[in-house]
Amino acid sequence: MNESKDFLRTKVEEDLKAGRYTHVVTRFPPEPNGYPHIGHAKSICINFGIANDYHGECNLRMDDTNPTTEDTQYVEALKDAVEWLGFEWEGGVRYTSDYFERLYEYAMQLIKMGKAYVDSLSEEEIREYRGSVTLPGKRSKYATRSIEENVELFERMKKGEFADGQHVLRAKIDMSAANMQLRDPLLYRIRHTSHQRTGDTWCIYPMYDFAHCLSDYIEGISHSICTLEFENNRVIYDWILDTLGLTQQRPYQYEFARLNINYTVMSKRKLLELVNKGLVSGWDDPRMPTLAGYRRRGYTPQSIVHFCDTIGIAKANSIVDVAQLEFAIRDELNLAAPRVMCVLNPLKITIENYEGSELLEASYYPEDVPKEGVRLLPFSKEIFIEREDFDENPPKDYYRLTPTQPVRLKHAYIIECKEVIKDTTGKIIQLKAHYYPNSKSGEDRSGIKVKSAIQWVEEKSAKEIEVRLYDRLFEDESPKGSEDISPYSLKIIRNALIEPAVIDTKLDERFQFERLGYFYADPIDYSDKHPVFNKIVGLKESWGKKAQSTQPNKMEKKVQIDGKVVPMSQAQHAFFEHYTHTLGLNSEIANTLARDERLSSFYAQTLEEFNSPIPLANTVANEVARELKDKTLKELKFGAKEVAQLIKMVEDEIISSKIAKEVFEEMAKSGEAPQTIVQIKGWMQISNPQILQSIIDEVIAKNPDNVAKYKAGNTKLFGFFVGEVLKATSGKANPKMVNELVGKTLQS
Ligand code: ATP
Ligand code: MG
Repeated sequence: MNESKDFLRTKVEEDLKAGRYTHVVTRFPPEPNGYPHIGHAKSICINFGIANDYHGECNLRMDDTNPTTEDTQYVEALKDAVEWLGFEWEGGVRYTSDYFERLYEYAMQLIKMGKAYVDSLSEEEIREYRGSVTLPGKRSKYATRSIEENVELFERMKKGEFADGQHVLRAKIDMSAANMQLRDPLLYRIRHTSHQRTGDTWCIYPMYDFAHCLSDYIEGISHSICTLEFENNRVIYDWILDTLGLTQQRPYQYEFARLNINYTVMSKRKLLELVNKGLVSGWDDPRMPTLAGYRRRGYTPQSIVHFCDTIGIAKANSIVDVAQLEFAIRDELNLAAPRVMCVLNPLKITIENYEGSELLEASYYPEDVPKEGVRLLPFSKEIFIEREDFDENPPKDYYRLTPTQPVRLKHAYIIECKEVIKDTTGKIIQLKAHYYPNSKSGEDRSGIKVKSAIQWVEEKSAKEIEVRLYDRLFEDESPKGSEDISPYSLKIIRNALIEPAVIDTKLDERFQFERLGYFYADPIDYSDKHPVFNKIVGLKESWGKKAQSTQPNKMEKKVQIDGKVVPMSQAQHAFFEHYTHTLGLNSEIANTLARDERLSSFYAQTLEEFNSPIPLANTVANEVARELKDKTLKELKFGAKEVAQLIKMVEDEIISSKIAKEVFEEMAKSGEAPQTIVQIKGWMQISNPQILQSIIDEVIAKNPDNVAKYKAGNTKLFGFFVGEVLKATSGKANPKMVNELVGKTLQS
C-alpha cells in the first residue's frame, strides 16, 4: 500500500476505522460511447487501486442510460482496457440498464411522496425557467399536479403514449437554490430509441443524476469516486438517497481532478470526430491518447499504471505534461529493451580492404542494464550506414564519418572514408572505405581516436522492414480538435534495414534501435514476410527545453544532475572512492549510491547479508532507488535482507535476472519474501538438463529447415534455436545451459 496517502485513501481508512463500512466497494462507471483514454486510466487506477489496497472490490459498470450514442464495440474496448491494465472487476460486467425496473420503482416512490412531478414545459422553457447564477428560477405551473395525476402520466410515459420531449419527470427540490443543479433536476426523459441491451422495452430513460446514486446504492458501493465536474451534483446524489430513505450503508460521492494532458484532445466526442473524419486510422491509431492506441504504439500497461501513480490524485485541476507519460515508458524500456541496429535511410559503403565474412558477437544490453544476452552480427565488405551519419562538408562538432574523420561501426571496426561516389545529379550514392583490422570492438589495438560509434547493417543479411515514425498528433499545446491535427505526426519508411537477429530470434517485441529510439513490433500488421515496427518514443525528451550539457569533470568528481554540476561532499566522495576502487562498481552506479544517504546505507546492509557487490549495487541503484523516489526507507515493503536473497537466487541460478525484475516488483508491492513469490508464481528457472533437452528436441523437430540450414553452415541460426527454447519456457530456461545444450544437440 502506498503510505504517502492521497485524500481518497485517507477517507477510506477513516471510514474503515470508524466502522462506517466493513468492506470497501468502488466502481468504474464509464459510458460506453467511445474508447477509453488515458484519463480513464487514471480513474481505473484510482478505483481498482483503492479496492485492491483495502482488500475490497471494484465493479465495472457500463453507464448505459443514453441509447443514442452507445455501442457494444465500446463495451468490449472498455473491458479490454481494464484487463490490459491488469485489473479484475468483481463478478460480471454490470450495466445501469440492468436496474431500469428498480429505478422506475424508485421514481414512482418519489412521485408518491410528492417529491417528483411530471413537467410538460418544452425544453426551451425549462431552460428559461431555470434562471441563472444571479437570478432565481421559476417553478413550472405543472409542479402543482396532484400525486395521482403524476402517477398516471408517468405510467403513460413508460407505456410510450407520448412523443420525445413531450414530458419529463423532475425532482421537486428548490427553484431558487444557489446551486443551480438543485433547481428541480430532470430525472427521466422520453426517448423512442432502441437500447443496445433492453431493445424497445423502455422508451423512458433515467438521467445520470438519478441513475448513478441509485446504481451505486443497489451495488452496495461504499465510495463513489468521480471527477470534479460532478461536485455540484453531489447534493442531488445525497438528496435522492436521503429522500428515499436509503440511508443504511449508503454510498457517498467524492471528487478528484480529472487528468488533462497537453498536446492532445481527450474527450471521447473529439476523439470520435478524428476517427469519423478518417484523420487517424481508427480508435487504436498509435497516435491516439486512447488505451488501445498506446497499447498498439508499444506502451506497456505497467508504464501507464506507473504514470498514473506518479501524477497523484488532487482536488485541483491541472495539466500534466505529456513528456511525463513518455518518460514513464522510456524509463521502463531503458532497463528492459534489447539494443539492436537498424538503418532508416541507408547509404551503402564498400569496405575495400575487407575480404570474406565473420560473425561478431554483440551484447544486446549495455553494461548498466543488468540483463544478459548476445547475438551474432554478420559482417562483410558491403554494409549500409545511416545517410545522415556521413557528411562531406560537416559543420563544426560533427562527430560522425567525414572524408577526413574516421568513425567506429558499433560492435565492429573503425572505418575511414576513401572515396565518395555520386550520381549525375550530385547525390551521394555510395562510399568506398577502409577498415582498421586491429580495431575490433573489445580488442582494439589500433590507437585510432574516434568521436562516435554509429549503427550499420550488413547488406547481405539485413532484413527489410517497415518503420512507422510517430510524433505528437497535435503541435499545439492545447489543441481544440480535428482542425489542429499535425501533418507530421506519421512518417512511414517502407524499406528500412535491420540486422537479422531481430526478425529471426524474436527475442522480444520491444527494442531499442540504437540511436533512433524505442520500437514495437506492430501487433496487427507485423508478419514475418512484412515486419512492421512502430516508434514508441525517442531516446531523449526532444520537445521540452534541452538540458544544459556541462561536461562532468572527472578529476573533481563532479557529476551532472539535471544539467547542473553539483560537487560531492567529502563523505560522499569517500563512498564513491570505496565503491569504484575497492568494490569495482562503475562510476555511474557508484555516483548514484554515494550521493544518496538512504541508498548507501541500504546498500551497506545488503552487503552484510550477501557479498556480491556489483549485482547488489545495480539493484539498489535502479530498482530500490525507483521505489525510494516517493517513499521513505521505512515505508518500503521489503528490506535489505530480501534484496540480498533475491540476488542470491539469481546467482544460484534459481531464477533468471529477467524474472528477478518481476519478483522485485512483486516484493515492492506485496512485501512477500522473494522465495515465496517465486514459489507461488512458479517462476523457478528451469535448470534441469532433461527438461531442457526435451524442449530443445521439440524445437529442433519443429524446424527441420533451419536445422538443415544451420548444418549447411548458416551458424547464425544458433541464436534462433536458443531464442525458441527461451520463448517456449516464457523466459524461464537457464540461458547458459540452453546455449550449451543447443550447441551439443546441433553438433550431434
Ligand atoms: P469524456 O468526456 O472523455 O467522454 P466522460 O467523463 O464522459 O469522459 P465516462 O465514460 O463517463 O467519461 O467516464 C467514466 C469514468 O472515468 C468517470 O468516473 C469519469 O469521471 C472518469 N474520467 C473520464 N475522463 C477522465 C479524466 N480525464 N481523468 C480522470 N477521470 C476521468
Ligand atoms: Mg461523457
